[in-house]
Amino acid sequence: MASPVGHLLLALSCTGFRERSAKPWPALVWVVIVTACWAPDFDFLPGILIGEPNRYHHGVSHSLAGALLFSSAIALSFRKLTDNRVSLGRIAFLAYTSHLLGDWLTIDTRAPIGIPIFWPLNDSYFISPLLIFQDIRHGTDGAGLAGFLIEVFSIANLSAIGRELVITLAVLVAVETARRRIGRGH
Ligand SMILES: [Zn+2]
Repeated sequence: MASPVGHLLLALSCTGFRERSAKPWPALVWVVIVTACWAPDFDFLPGILIGEPNRYHHGVSHSLAGALLFSSAIALSFRKLTDNRVSLGRIAFLAYTSHLLGDWLTIDTRAPIGIPIFWPLNDSYFISPLLIFQDIRHGTDGAGLAGFLIEVFSIANLSAIGRELVITLAVLVAVETARRRIGRGH
């Protein structure tokens, strides 16, 4: 997995900045982006509840079906709050799938390697042949909450996050610059 900050910067690269000022609920767009780009890793929560945080990690929440389900729920939930419902669903889908992209591009040391992108059509796990991000350590299989937290806050993770920040910030600046240039051309 990549870090929450890396996932957020990747999500902003995918959703764009202009969308974030969408009316009439600009703060809601922010909340949707942040929640959607972290949502796949909420699969740590049931494991934390039973004292084994990694138990359900990289399961079905790391699939396109999960992205469709989440973004449909967002679109339906906010249909009465905003006239921007289709756009909110699209933003949620982009932010959620940006998380899948980030994990697909990340070194994974726990079997099964990768993520089940095409579940339930295909149960196989997929990982990019070219891995850009270092794994964020979060304990071995079967590790309890203490082992999980010790690794999450380790020096090794600081270095992985530093590298990730450089890459994701560069991507965000490049994508946003291109977007603005294209926008000016119209
Ligand atoms: Zn993840």
